[in-house]
Order: sequence, then structure tokens, then C-alpha cells
Amino acid sequence: SDHQLVYPPQPDQMDWSTLYPDYIAKDSQEIRAEGGSSDSEAAIPKRLTQDVEVADIGCGFGGLLVALAPVMPQTLVLGLEIRVSVTQFVEDRIKVLRHQNAETGGYRNVSVLRANTMKFLPNFFRKSQLSKIFICFPDPHFKARKHKQRIVSTTLNSEYAYVLKPGGIAYTITDVPDLHEWMVQHFEAHPAFERISEEEQDADPCVEIMRTATEEGKKVERNKGQKHVALFRRLEDPDW
Ligand code: SAM
Repeated sequence: SDHQLVYPPQPDQMDWSTLYPDYIAKDSQEIRAEGGSSDSEAAIPKRLTQDVEVADIGCGFGGLLVALAPVMPQTLVLGLEIRVSVTQFVEDRIKVLRHQNAETGGYRNVSVLRANTMKFLPNFFRKSQLSKIFICFPDPHFKARKHKQRIVSTTLNSEYAYVLKPGGIAYTITDVPDLHEWMVQHFEAHPAFERISEEEQDADPCVEIMRTATEEGKKVERNKGQKHVALFRRLEDPDW
């Protein structure tokens, strides 16, 4: 349950250094080394040379992360997953890949974190920090009384809008037509988002990755199911 989840009170207190050890800012390390080990200094998290910019909400077994890593090697990508064992699996998967690719330094730009994204997203990310959010094959919660558990809603879309920078993109894909419509309806109704044209959508290389590299995407492929894709652009804030 949530009380076992670890999350920072605010983004600048998040310690990313264990997730992306190759990106720790040099001066950040020196401050710690010289400063000794008093409690107040130990509490300052090490800074990274750059911020996480891409988030995979409910990343499952990490297929998307692993496929994105070499496609955007200069970008820090983070998977967020609520299930403990699944998060551990992805952690191990990334560890093995980093080890196997030690010479090229591959996969050091992707990591995974256990989190309930329905509750703590703004604890991890600053306003306008992210350029892409992926929501791939989210749990459908078919029954009407379960709809409030869906990962796309008016309230949650406001959180996605908060952490996405203007021009950033929310990517969605599902095999459930009703959920697809639900996601389109909720994003289109939100003043901070506009739907991206099919033309632009099909030209985006991330769409093909999302269709084919996710574990759920593969499952749907095997079962010859349909995949419904919709992308939404985070608009500029109006000047009111
Ligand atoms: N995105 C992956 C894929 O396409 O293969 C996994 C899809 S799976 C159907 C949905 C995932 O979302 C599950 O692994 C589930 O544990 C995770 N999930 C559900 N609610 C979540 C939440 N509130 N925060 C983080 N992850 C969540």
C-alpha cells in the first residue's frame, strides 16, 4: 500500500543519483566529499548533469524503456511502476543490459522507480520538466464504478499538463476501444492539450516503438488485436 512507497516531499529533494549514477554532477560529488558527513549535508541529494525528460507511466516489464534507451541516448528516461516485483524485474533487466553494454555505456540513460503515478507525480517532477509521457496499455478498469481508477482523467491530465513542458507530448495506446475513446475524450476536453494529427502521429518514430516494443503491444500482436494510438500536445499556457 501507499505508506510503503518512498517519494520525495518535492522534486528538488529527490535523489536521482542511484538511478543514473553516470550522470552525477561533478561539483555535486565534490561538495559531499569535502563537506564531511554531517547530517544536513548528507541530506542534500546529489545533483545530476541533466533532468529526467521522458516518463513511462505504468511501465510494466520495461519493453518500452529498453527500446527507447538507444533511440534517445542523450535523454534520461524513467519508468514508473506500482508493483514491487515488476519494478524489481525491470531494475534487474536494466542492470544486466548495462553490464552487457559496459563498453559502449548503453542503457545508462534509463531507469525505473516504484511509484503510484496517480498520487505522487508532482513529487518527482518539476513543472514543465518532461518532454514526453508514455501511457501504454493502461489497465482498462472496464466497469463504470472502476473508471475513477483509470490513469487518464480530468484531474490526472492536469498533473500530466503540469509536469509536461509546452510542446511536450502525451502518448497513449490501448487495445480497448472504449478506453481509447475515454482517453481521447478526456485529453481533448482538457484546455492544456490538443490532439496531434494522424499524419504527424505516424511520422513520430516513438509511435512504432510503442506499438511493437511494449510487452502488451506484443501480446496484442500475437492475439491479432487492434491497437489504438492517440497523441496529445501540451499547449502553451494562455497569458491570463
Ligand atoms: N506499459 C506496459 C506495457 O505496455 O507492456 C504495461 C501495461 S500493464 C497492462 C499496466 C501497468 O501499469 C501494470 O504493470 C500496473 O502495475 C501498472 N500500474 C497500474 N496503476 C499504476 C499506478 N497508479 N502507478 C504506477 N503504475 C501503475
